[in-house]
Amino acid sequence: MKVVLIGFRGTGKTAAGHLLARLLGVPFYDTDALIEEKAGAHVHEIFGAVGEEGFRKLEREVIATLPSGPGVFATGGGAVLSPENVEHLRRGRTVVLLQADAATIEKRIRDTARPPLTTMGLRAEIQHLLSVRRDAYLSAADMCVDTSARSANEVAIHIKRLLEEGTVPVEGMEKAARAIAQSGIPEQEGRELLEKIGAIRDNPVLRFYGVAGYPSLHSRSPQLYAQLFSYFGINAHYIRFHDPSLSRILNLAADLDVRGLSVTIPFKQEVLDAVDHPDEHCSAIGAANTVLFCGGRSYAYNTDWMGIRDALLEEKGKTAVVLGAGGAAAAAAYALLSLGMEVTVLNRTVEKAEALAARFGCSSGVPRDFDRIRPAVVVNATPVGMEPDRGSPLTREQLFPGMTVFDLVYTPPETPLLRMARSAGCRVIQGREMFIRQAQAQFRHFTGIDAPLHMIREMMG
Ligand code: NAP
Repeated sequence: MKVVLIGFRGTGKTAAGHLLARLLGVPFYDTDALIEEKAGAHVHEIFGAVGEEGFRKLEREVIATLPSGPGVFATGGGAVLSPENVEHLRRGRTVVLLQADAATIEKRIRDTARPPLTTMGLRAEIQHLLSVRRDAYLSAADMCVDTSARSANEVAIHIKRLLEEGTVPVEGMEKAARAIAQSGIPEQEGRELLEKIGAIRDNPVLRFYGVAGYPSLHSRSPQLYAQLFSYFGINAHYIRFHDPSLSRILNLAADLDVRGLSVTIPFKQEVLDAVDHPDEHCSAIGAANTVLFCGGRSYAYNTDWMGIRDALLEEKGKTAVVLGAGGAAAAAAYALLSLGMEVTVLNRTVEKAEALAARFGCSSGVPRDFDRIRPAVVVNATPVGMEPDRGSPLTREQLFPGMTVFDLVYTPPETPLLRMARSAGCRVIQGREMFIRQAQAQFRHFTGIDAPLHMIREMMG
């Protein structure tokens, strides 16, 4: 058994970790103790001598060279802020996040010798760091355990049970099996999923992720995530939830204690009403494409806008036009504005363009306004040019050398708009770039690991 305990100071990693190791009959390792051994000094002395940066460097070295055999590994509270550490910790191990409320943590750590990391008072520092680190903790974990009202012994026994029996109760498995039979999950994938559920007894720490959409049969996320999980040694299975009802998908996800969902058309807006904690970006855009579940709570994010922003980093501050005023256009406008661009949303139904522009404080108009603006950057967020359509939202005359044209349509990869833009001397960016970059950010939310872009590109073929 290989288990990693992560979480804030005072959540019980060391105390419960020792007891859990004894219960499982495996060695216990504390990364802070290993760092002290390596440096020949106490943690507070290391902080005093080389600061937090020097400590984190030592921590990375220790985590990269942890014993690969069975064991319970307790980590320092800030260890999982580094995606590199998370990658090492997760490989072939189950990561359990220990959580506790700020008051409990304060009570537990008040009298310890560890130095504060900020100049705030202790309670304020705990609250601040819990909020800053929240997403890193949620992402890096396979399972979440609240230790606030449990003794170290109870925590150890509880984790042992989760590791041996899994987090999906028998009734959940039975309910899920019935729901799968009635859902739109394709037959072959449904069979595979039932096999995975049936095998939970042999592999109780298997975790489920999936894509929620309708239709979702075209989604390439299942193939991509299967490769990413396998490459990074993560014990997880990715499901295609193909169902016209979001609430049915969410019920099935709850039965299977799903860890994360990629959310696609038509649920990106609707899902916001169903989650407990939408982040600031998805609230501003009005849509989410990523949901994480932990300890009975759900957390929503939007990585679509990041996929657009990251492909256009070189274009900061320029004049830009977004064609369309739907969900993808909202993510595009938000991304372009975050890059300090002067943005105009153009749409055939001008009222929708006006509503979107009013939300973000940018300009709006109808498609023929394009010629007056002559933007340096244009993002097509309409489905024009998507197979089998062969149209283009712009004519050859509207494109000029030096213009950057980003077509969010990704089937076909080279749309009629991009073909024309290339021949007009424009910089062209294909829609798959958005998918690849949003998937990189989503995988980071799902696992805490940074998968390189070139790896995702290769996996996408
Ligand atoms: P949506 O919410 O349905 O919005 C579509 C927008 O396009 C609407 O503003 C609509 O105008 C406009 N439109 C539709 N047909 C049009 C036509 N024939 N001529 C002119 N305008 C038209 O769709 P969405 O979710 O934003 O998706 C838009 C496109 O982005 C799709 O092609 C999708 O494949 C692509 N996309 C790509 C990625 C990626 O990863 N690359 C991710 C998400 C979306 P009205 O308001 O007048 O109806």
